[in-house]
Amino acid sequence: MKKIEGKKEKSVKTKKVNKGVVIGATVAGIAVCAVAGYFGGNALRNNKINKQALNYINMDEKVSTIYCSGKNIKLSQEAYSMIKDEGLDLVVSNDKFIERIASENVEQKFDIVLNTTSNANFEEAYDISIGNAGVKELKIRLNSNKEYFSEFIGEEFITNKVVVEDGLANIQMKDDTTVYTLAYIVPKEIVLEDVKVNKGASKDIEMGIDKKDYTFGSVELKANTDTGIEIDGFKIKGIEVGEYILTAVMPNGNKEAKVMVEPSVEKIDLDKLSVELFRNDNTTINATFTPDNAVNKALEWKSTNEGIATVDENGTITGVAEGTCEIICTTKDEPKVSATAQVEVKARPYVSQVWSGPQVTGITYVNGIMLVNKTHPIPADYAPGLDPTAYDAFLKLRADAAAAGFDIQLLSGYRSYSLQSQLYTNYCNTYGQAAADTFSARPGTSEHQTGLAMDVGWIDDAYGDTPSGQWLAANCYKYGFILRYLQGKESITGYKYEPWHIRYVGPVAEDIYRSGLCLEEYLGVLN
Ligand SMILES: [Zn+2]
Repeated sequence: MKKIEGKKEKSVKTKKVNKGVVIGATVAGIAVCAVAGYFGGNALRNNKINKQALNYINMDEKVSTIYCSGKNIKLSQEAYSMIKDEGLDLVVSNDKFIERIASENVEQKFDIVLNTTSNANFEEAYDISIGNAGVKELKIRLNSNKEYFSEFIGEEFITNKVVVEDGLANIQMKDDTTVYTLAYIVPKEIVLEDVKVNKGASKDIEMGIDKKDYTFGSVELKANTDTGIEIDGFKIKGIEVGEYILTAVMPNGNKEAKVMVEPSVEKIDLDKLSVELFRNDNTTINATFTPDNAVNKALEWKSTNEGIATVDENGTITGVAEGTCEIICTTKDEPKVSATAQVEVKARPYVSQVWSGPQVTGITYVNGIMLVNKTHPIPADYAPGLDPTAYDAFLKLRADAAAAGFDIQLLSGYRSYSLQSQLYTNYCNTYGQAAADTFSARPGTSEHQTGLAMDVGWIDDAYGDTPSGQWLAANCYKYGFILRYLQGKESITGYKYEPWHIRYVGPVAEDIYRSGLCLEEYLGVLN
């Protein structure tokens, strides 16, 4: 590897290179990119001062690639000499191309493209200008074995970095004793825009660039308040709600902008701090805010365990499986404020509420619910007639259905043993017993004999697809009814889907409905 010891004498003397935040701002304004790569490019495109660039400079990190805007990069005389004398390569690129200029061609190249700068702050620097697209990247290749100077960190150079002096960003390489200035980047005049910041939140002040080749020595942010906002370099923090003036103090005229500190959420109160719910059930938590006029009321909701309960963007929690977890809501915008609710998802109770009618010997009841099916018959002499409670419930259902625009009439209610016997015999004669068994109960096994079952609406498979049938399916639980023979449960109930057959069970209907189970499954009687 070629040493560049000889250059040390020629190199720029190490200067004072730290000017605190002022340095950061200026360099950030010209969009410098560090190892991480791309933000400099973004800053370049957006013409905005960039937070990462600022951090990068302040952290004194290494430069591997330097992005700079437009035509405003100037190769220092030292670097120019170094490239020529030491046989280093220079790589210049823009969005369209990358050009590697071998040391022996640098002079020739620069004869064409370099002009001595007129900037008074330093002498004998050169504008690098390749075409109209401008320079995007500048790398110095140290020799033919090693690619770019950034790869020499730890060998030849300790630090490669960009600093600002006299209003110019210097792209520097530094070893133990000497700083080599490779190039200068000329920042332009800044633009300061009005900004809103939430009380308690911080915001980086971005400064745009609007004037080519304007050089300034320093920028400092000040405000017309000691208590309204806090300034830390180029970051401001809202302290008190109000409107203030932010000034970017520069040698050649200040820039002013308004800062609005807006009220922000200081506290979130939830209307439920502890939620118990069953699997598949849901409940919504509502939040209120202090102060009420906070501007950042938008919340993000999160479950600590989505396998137990999920939560949507409206704070609606759905039980997934038994267990406990927490639901946490947090303000989307700074300052971050959170509130937490405990959630316990419980197993759906076997029977939460039962309808307890009189129990009759010879009839199966499970937790008070009468069960009648092909394997659980009722005595032939059980003849209660239509249950008055069930009928009253039906009348209410019918009235509400009518109000909703649906005409749901009772087509068949109570059937005695002997009537069922006649029906069944007729069906057997017409369709054969096997077919009859799929839709007609054998005498003694019909729910209609209990006085609790009703055929309503329209006795047709298509009824379930009609608006009326859908209203019935979705609402009958409110009146204590369940759809007794569900689609997909034929092998359990023993009957095909009957969207018209409802069975009165009382208040437990809601629980059965929400479980999605048929009555046999719900009662755990599957034989
Ligand atoms: Zn029926």
